[in-house]
Amino acid sequence: MCVVTTAQPRTESLDVQPTPLALLLLGREADPRSERGVECPGDLPSPSDPDLVERARAAKEKLGERVFVLGHHYQRDEVIQFADVTGDSFKLAREAAARPDAEYIVFCGVHFMAESADILTSADQKVVLPDLAAGCSMADMATAEQVAECWDVLTDAGIAERVVPVSYMNSSADIKAFTGKHGGTICTSSNAKKALDWAFEQGEQVLFLPDQHLGRNTAVRDLGMSLDDCVLYNPHKPNGGLTVEQLRAAKMILWRGHCSVHGRFSIDSVRDVRERIPGVNVLVHPECKHEVVTAADYVGSTEYIIKVLDAAPAGSKWAIGTELNLVRRVAQAHPDKEVVFLDRTVCFCSTMNRIDLPHLVWALESLAEGNLVNQIQVDSETESFAKLALERMLALP
Ligand code: SF4
Repeated sequence: MCVVTTAQPRTESLDVQPTPLALLLLGREADPRSERGVECPGDLPSPSDPDLVERARAAKEKLGERVFVLGHHYQRDEVIQFADVTGDSFKLAREAAARPDAEYIVFCGVHFMAESADILTSADQKVVLPDLAAGCSMADMATAEQVAECWDVLTDAGIAERVVPVSYMNSSADIKAFTGKHGGTICTSSNAKKALDWAFEQGEQVLFLPDQHLGRNTAVRDLGMSLDDCVLYNPHKPNGGLTVEQLRAAKMILWRGHCSVHGRFSIDSVRDVRERIPGVNVLVHPECKHEVVTAADYVGSTEYIIKVLDAAPAGSKWAIGTELNLVRRVAQAHPDKEVVFLDRTVCFCSTMNRIDLPHLVWALESLAEGNLVNQIQVDSETESFAKLALERMLALP
């Protein structure tokens, strides 16, 4: 479980306690899950304030070595300019852990990333997420209750003892803790093959959470499994929508979750760009659907995408299937190459984009004034099991 410090929702004195849903329907309360962090405690600067850049710079300067700002690759330019380091979620969590002297880690990314940073940093370091509404739709697709129920289903099917959970970094601290508790490991999009190899040495079947596409793509492309070796567990259906026989026969039990950004790319996007730009290289992230990954020329993590573009010859043509902020920056960094977004429609990650300059200024100025805001804190039991799963990943060959 993760604890955040923020303004408490308004409550009223009533004889009968209405449910949150009833209050929401009456317009008298916020849904604590879907509206997490919508209220910003304190005065948020106006987006039109012409001094925002100067204010962020001044607050950061005042904090000096006490603050370390992390910026995920999918963040807006206006935010990324203040990052001390940029990277994917795992690289950023490690960078945070490597800065024990920084009292505050300001994480410009999404909620699960800030949780991982809190897990990997020392107890006296404070991790701050400038906007608590910056969640991740994929991470939210696997809740602790749903995953506990799934484990009961696997236990009833008589297979829990031979199933090893492998959870993608893009999952909540609760799911990471579940994974650690049941002998599993975390993986990233860069080391998913190694994590699965390790898991199949520990057991006979894998429960892969929460991104079905990364699980399927890695099993089929890198481990040589067939699509029939994979089944899809739907947490919204009784027994995941699967029979006991299907559960027992599967090598990979894939959780029915996906990234709402990468899930948008289709086989038509690939066909269309190949027609529009003859000779184009299609480079996609493994969170894309299996048919998209199969039709692409290159597949890899965000860091891999950057490396491939850095090494590409001048004049080469690239269509990239990942978050638009990253594609735009990669295109700007390589004016000698033709770099386009794989899809014709705009595809920002809406939750990543919640972190904007006003929220960053507000967080930095609050810290500079001695007010700790929007702290992301994972409770100690969750932290210890989640850390176990993360340490297993760090020990992968
Ligand atoms: S890009 Fe996808 S996986 Fe990443 S934070 Fe956004 S919704 Fe989550």
